[in-house]
Amino acid sequence: MKAVAVTPGKPNSAHLVEMQTPQVSDVAGGRGVLVKVLRVGVDGTDKEINAAEYGQAPPGFDFLVTGHESFGQVEAVGAEVRHVKPGDYVVATVRRPGHSIYDRIGTSDMTTDSTYYERGINLLHGYLAEYYVDDAEFIVKIPRGLKEVGVLLEPMTVVEKGITQAFEIQRRLRVWRPKRAAVMGAGTIGLLATLVLRLRGLEVVTFGKTPKPYLNSDLVEALGATYVTSDELPVAESPNKYEGGFDLIFEATGYSPIAFDSMQALARNGVLVLSSVTGGDRLTEVPSDKINLEFVLGNKVMVGTVNANREYFESGVGDMSQAELEYPGWLARLLTHPVKGLENYRELFDKLTNAKDSIKVYCQVSE
Ligand code: BGC
Ligand code: ZN
Repeated sequence: MKAVAVTPGKPNSAHLVEMQTPQVSDVAGGRGVLVKVLRVGVDGTDKEINAAEYGQAPPGFDFLVTGHESFGQVEAVGAEVRHVKPGDYVVATVRRPGHSIYDRIGTSDMTTDSTYYERGINLLHGYLAEYYVDDAEFIVKIPRGLKEVGVLLEPMTVVEKGITQAFEIQRRLRVWRPKRAAVMGAGTIGLLATLVLRLRGLEVVTFGKTPKPYLNSDLVEALGATYVTSDELPVAESPNKYEGGFDLIFEATGYSPIAFDSMQALARNGVLVLSSVTGGDRLTEVPSDKINLEFVLGNKVMVGTVNANREYFESGVGDMSQAELEYPGWLARLLTHPVKGLENYRELFDKLTNAKDSIKVYCQVSE
């Protein structure tokens, strides 16, 4: 079969490889699920991997098959697999267990190991291929009614985890009735965070860079949320307009100084969730006394979040289903840039890096 791979350490090395088609029996104990890949989304992580800033080949290979945002259809299952059958639509999780105690209880997203095993990212081949096989444990069923948008589940899980963790943390307050949230960033993750917070009944203000109107601000407003740019309303000063600040802030801009501005926009008892993977070495000056004082006097919390385990894939399916009922057709509007066929991987990476007005760029691997 064909697959799209990079040579780790070599920038812009995306190329096609020919590999053996996997088989159900590659997974021991009758637990294999063989999946025909239909769509694979790409994001900033793929950009960094193709730029050779990140990503290692699996042992015994000098290339890494990329792609971690999968969507496919079950082709065959092992004798012990019960929860999916041939013909079902599925998405696979990304990280595989390492060795810490968190990995052993099904929460590899919370690993304390320093080596990550992530399909399409680090040490494990990804999904930009005609087929993949994996243990049933890591395969999540997608309802038929979500098949047009199922490829958005993986990015959705990043949001699911961050917001679930925020609510878990806030159990410290015995009663927590968040009313107003802010989302920093209006890219795929920012838009999905806006969606989930609206589904939870919060008033949401989403901060972007581009002045409205454009697709992303339209999408924010279609959810009944407010779109503002951080030029119109600097984040650190936003409590002047939104009195008392925000009970929950989800940061997803990829620009680390906004994390410190967000700290100043947080309400008393509020929680700030940081999700941007900022690989650079930017320095910034901050009003540290003010930030520290307000955090202390306001009993505020800040938490980082990365990756997602199966639980968040399952809650993501629930929220995507609810989104289709509440805001029909909204999710599909995020799928702005399809690229047909694995052989057009150059176009895929080109759109990922250069396409203006893109939200989700994805490969239509098979119909
Ligand atoms: C993926 C996560 C992954 C993270 C770090 C993100 O793009 O969506 O699943 O854990 O990159 O590798
Ligand atoms: Zn990703």
